[in-house]
Amino acid sequence: MGIFGTDKPSKSDRTYPVAKTEEEWKQLLTPAEYQVLRQAGTEPAWMGEYTETKTVGVYRCRACQTELFRSETKFDSHCGWPSFFSPLAEDRIEEIVDRTLGMSRTEVRCSACGSHLGHVFAGEGYGTPTDLRYCINSLSISLEPGTA
Ligand SMILES: [Zn+2]
Repeated sequence: MGIFGTDKPSKSDRTYPVAKTEEEWKQLLTPAEYQVLRQAGTEPAWMGEYTETKTVGVYRCRACQTELFRSETKFDSHCGWPSFFSPLAEDRIEEIVDRTLGMSRTEVRCSACGSHLGHVFAGEGYGTPTDLRYCINSLSISLEPGTA
């Protein structure tokens, strides 16, 4: 058993623009990245490299490099994972209702490659413009510093 909680990946009938076999993803990603991105794992709270990052830039999908989030939508949620109040564009992410673990949560995936990013929660009262919290694994994204 690893340190990562792993949900059963939800079935999606979608085909994604970036399509690779699981073998190809395994070669491309580190074992930890693979577990989060391709097996819907969750990195331990406060362990991710971007949890408290304030660097200006764009966050890309670590699997396929699609631009997903801007640093200007990142906020301090104190939840232990990088949190954003909106994606870079609505069509960059896919939201799937996830009923594993006996509860209903909304999973967030990269719409280009179908990789798991995290979950989105609504109405938590953070006072952000959208009142949404995209709770994203650091292992699912990579920051490209620069102008947001
Ligand atoms: Zn992707």
